Amino acid sequence: MPILTIESTCDETAAAVVDSDDKVLGQCVAKQDELHRHFRGVVPEVAARAHLERILPVIDTAMNQADVAGADLEAIAVADRPGLAGSLLVGLVAAKTLAVAWQKPLVTINHLHAHLYACQLAVDRPVYPCVGMIVSGGHTSLYQCDSSLDLTYLGGTIDDAAGEAFDKVAAMLSLGFPGGPAVSKLAASGNPKAHAYPRSMIRDDGFDFSFSGLKTAVRYSIVGPGQQDFSQLDLSDDQKADVCASFEAAVVDVLVTKAAKAIRHCQADRLIVGGGVAANGVFRSQLQDAADREGFDLVIAPADLCTDNAVMGAIAWQKIRRGEFASLDVDIQPGLQRGF
Ligand code: ATP
Ligand code: MG
Ligand code: FE
Repeated sequence: MPILTIESTCDETAAAVVDSDDKVLGQCVAKQDELHRHFRGVVPEVAARAHLERILPVIDTAMNQADVAGADLEAIAVADRPGLAGSLLVGLVAAKTLAVAWQKPLVTINHLHAHLYACQLAVDRPVYPCVGMIVSGGHTSLYQCDSSLDLTYLGGTIDDAAGEAFDKVAAMLSLGFPGGPAVSKLAASGNPKAHAYPRSMIRDDGFDFSFSGLKTAVRYSIVGPGQQDFSQLDLSDDQKADVCASFEAAVVDVLVTKAAKAIRHCQADRLIVGGGVAANGVFRSQLQDAADREGFDLVIAPADLCTDNAVMGAIAWQKIRRGEFASLDVDIQPGLQRGF
């Protein structure tokens, strides 16, 4: 029997029905971009309210697509950490309610483990053990992955996540929200060497990242110190493209350098990469170049499984196989340090 998986950690409301060999029988993702665009970022209260309106129709759509009823399910799985508190609560309460109504076991998922598991869904060979890299809106981290559920934190951002930096640069240039796709589209016609933006911590001993200095450097390259008002910005499309291309090059340079270093450090032969920024074309191709050069196997999550979705909740099967079910009094864990 398949499982129902529910995802509501940030601003995507998603559900999927997945069978025990990770085959997707039905799925639905409701994005909220149009609700948050005006604010140039996700507003937690708006996200929670939108999840509440969408969660049942989204679950219905996935179940109808799969042509299953509650009685046909093996378990109900839900991402309960990390994420926005109000958003997580909607998913967890929905999952608990359905688990009680349908008398099915509840399984809780770490959303970051799921982002990496999206890579396993892309290929037939087993991807674990490996080094795992998550580059998303809220995280930029490297892990040694002994299995899909046994991860050791190697390092991560000490300030902004890479996706957050994309979103903030997009906001400065009035490119809309979410910023990653808009910045990368414009970057394609720009010169990546136009601005010499910093590659913070690139030569550091550890595996930490920092993107807030890069964000500030972008800011000073377009408005000058002390100037607050980006609405008066008078940049041509070509100038904006140069900023985007140079910014993207700096982010990608740091990410690829540190990922390759983690592979050497762990003496691993495979890198898996998930999270929204892994949809970025320049990042994907430079990772592939590094993999070819250094001789490691590279698996990047398919573009549609990089941003939040419930299909990657298929990782719940790994917990079911271990007999790791959750009790009905389990609570959300919004702000996990290092994602655990
Ligand atoms: P987390 O998983 O850390 O809780 P999240 O779920 O909000 O955060 P994701 O949905 O994985 O993050 O990714 C969203 C982020 O990915 C946004 O910051 C967005 O700008 C970025 N992103 C999406 N597509 C691209 C792209 N093509 N290039 C760069 N960044 C991108
Ligand atoms: Mg999102
Ligand atoms: Fe995410």
